[in-house]
Amino acid sequence: MEKSYSHPSDELLTAYSAGSLPLSQALCISTHLEHCDVCANKLKRLNRVGSELMQSLKPARASETLKQKLMDQLDSLTEKEPEIKAEPVDSSIPRCLRQFIDKGYDSLRWKRVSADIHSVELCRDSNGAKVELLKIKPGGSASTHTHLGDEYTVILEGSFSDESGLYRQGDFLLRDEKDRHTPVATQDRECICLAVTEGPVQLTGFFNRMLNPFLRRGYA
Ligand SMILES: [Zn+2]
Repeated sequence: MEKSYSHPSDELLTAYSAGSLPLSQALCISTHLEHCDVCANKLKRLNRVGSELMQSLKPARASETLKQKLMDQLDSLTEKEPEIKAEPVDSSIPRCLRQFIDKGYDSLRWKRVSADIHSVELCRDSNGAKVELLKIKPGGSASTHTHLGDEYTVILEGSFSDESGLYRQGDFLLRDEKDRHTPVATQDRECICLAVTEGPVQLTGFFNRMLNPFLRRGYA
């Protein structure tokens, strides 16, 4: 695996370790962790600190009803065994995304977004955030855009550059709604990214603005 150069913040890793991130953001962090030893080691330390902290807390005496509730929850958990899927043919897909991508990126139902971009939605978070894959053709550009919310991106295949630099496989990017950026895929191959958007993308060019009502359609 190539080395990652762009990482999630310590705040995000801490929230991930505490299990307090929404599914969509957790998927981005998990994907990055599969590529990045630096963050994987940081997470190990955070997990260790977290468990030491838990052990140092004095256990409160639980009431009988709370105990019963917990036992009931445990029972219901063991009843729902997760479905185990067979290993996909394409092992280049991050493990945490294999539940959505059975047989490789080519088998997905890509939809055309523009001449340069195709996308496929993987899932929605309970808070409405969209988890999707974006495929940018070699040398292709994702129009200059801003967002109504934060946008998380992890590069899965290929690479792209924007005003801030060049990003490669495994790199993690977080852009907020004030950032205007124009990602361009490198010429050598297409670029596939995992993207989580919390609100519809806002295109900022004149003709692009006319497309905005269509882009907003996909959100609740
Ligand atoms: Zn990292």
